[in-house]
Amino acid sequence: MSEPNLDYYAATQEEADQVNNNLFACDIRQCERCPLHKERNVACPGWFLSLPLDILFVGMSPGKDEDKAGRPFIGRAGKKLMELADSINLIKSDTMIGFTNVVRCHTPDNRPPTGQEIQACSTWMRAELDMAEPKVVMLLGNSAIPLAFENKKIGQVAGSARAMGSTIYIACYHPAAILHKRSAVIQDSIVQSMKLAKEVLHENRCHD
Ligand code: URA
Repeated sequence: MSEPNLDYYAATQEEADQVNNNLFACDIRQCERCPLHKERNVACPGWFLSLPLDILFVGMSPGKDEDKAGRPFIGRAGKKLMELADSINLIKSDTMIGFTNVVRCHTPDNRPPTGQEIQACSTWMRAELDMAEPKVVMLLGNSAIPLAFENKKIGQVAGSARAMGSTIYIACYHPAAILHKRSAVIQDSIVQSMKLAKEVLHENRCHD
């Protein structure tokens, strides 16, 4: 499989914040709504290429690399995600993409965030979703799934889509699952979820 197209990453977090007048990013960096702020290096607000978004990827929590850089999905999981997206040409030069997480601070040992931590950070999720107006939201893994699929696990809903307002939410395995388990089945499932996102974006363009 080819290397991901690193052009996606060209704009720094600060540049992207400026382009989008993302004032929430400053607030998120100062957020102390839950105990995770005590252990973070820096918080990672959503990174948006340009608004409104075509596709927003929502993960679990920033990893170690992200905690250093203050920007979501710049590490191995993000690269894997983009490698798979590139393999099906999901993202074209004019596709506006963005990344965020259900909690915006690194969790100790990369453990999944608790319900309370997700709840505390949900203010930022609502603010980012309202600001970004994504056509498609890819919910990556168990922590993100409840945003559109209550009480479900990724294994039950991977590849499913749900419309809420003018946004289509798609359930997708987290790319870290491939890095940990090296599972071809999970990789295929992620690609299938991405193909669905591609169809939705294509339909949307046809109706614009
Ligand atoms: N995994 C996530 O869920 N989010 C990131 O930002 C990086 C890795």
